[in-house]
Amino acid sequence: MGAPRTFRTEGVVIRYSDIGEADRIVTLLTPHYGKLRALARGIRRARARLAGHLDSCCRSELLLAEGRELPVVASALLVNGYARLRQDLHLTSYALYLLELADRFSEEQLENWPLYQLVVRTLDALEAGAPGELLLRHFELQLLKVSGFLPSLRFCLVCQQEIEPGENWFGPQGVTCPACPPDAASRPVSTTALKVMRFLARAGLDEAVRLRPTTATLRELEGHLQRAVRIVAERELKSADFLQQVRRQASEGKIVSPASR
Ligand SMILES: [Zn+2]
Repeated sequence: MGAPRTFRTEGVVIRYSDIGEADRIVTLLTPHYGKLRALARGIRRARARLAGHLDSCCRSELLLAEGRELPVVASALLVNGYARLRQDLHLTSYALYLLELADRFSEEQLENWPLYQLVVRTLDALEAGAPGELLLRHFELQLLKVSGFLPSLRFCLVCQQEIEPGENWFGPQGVTCPACPPDAASRPVSTTALKVMRFLARAGLDEAVRLRPTTATLRELEGHLQRAVRIVAERELKSADFLQQVRRQASEGKIVSPASR
């Protein structure tokens, strides 16, 4: 029997479960293999080589060996342990929310480079002290965008007319004007909140964090966007359409299992 085949990847630990006495199964978000589960043997033993490299949120360079059921982590080199994110309770809650969304909007073995980039950049910015709530709102909109679910923010969902300042409605699919009947998932939206959403949907991260919305606007955005993301995830994740959508968005022809690389 020859040595098991190995492959390298970078990854962010989005969750893990400890099994047996010292082992752990980590779920990683990777640039080229989408979501990837791997076995880290002995990681919970005192002085384990891998200890501290594969906790929640850690970003590491990994060498993996093909295993019977899951790839086995042969070695890991920490790229960023996000120490601040893991020490500050507030930041931890932001990071966990972000990782949970990344988990829900990614597929195993399905390359999603834009999503990986978005996750890493947002974690880096949170760690560097950028305003957390604004980052999360930017993340939610960008997540919907890279997944092909960006709500329509400029034209009415029903009549297709350009949205004017006034008493509009916002739902997971987009905005409805005052003249049209909003769907059941829509809620009233302020003109300011709508403008901020449009900006965050097109802005890069560096640009987005320079915005200074009022606390009231931030609260309103949080309500709208958390709902939108949750509804899209619940409604779409279960359906085959969602997978097709993700597949269309992901780089075509690059869905390759680690074993065949
Ligand atoms: Zn309308």
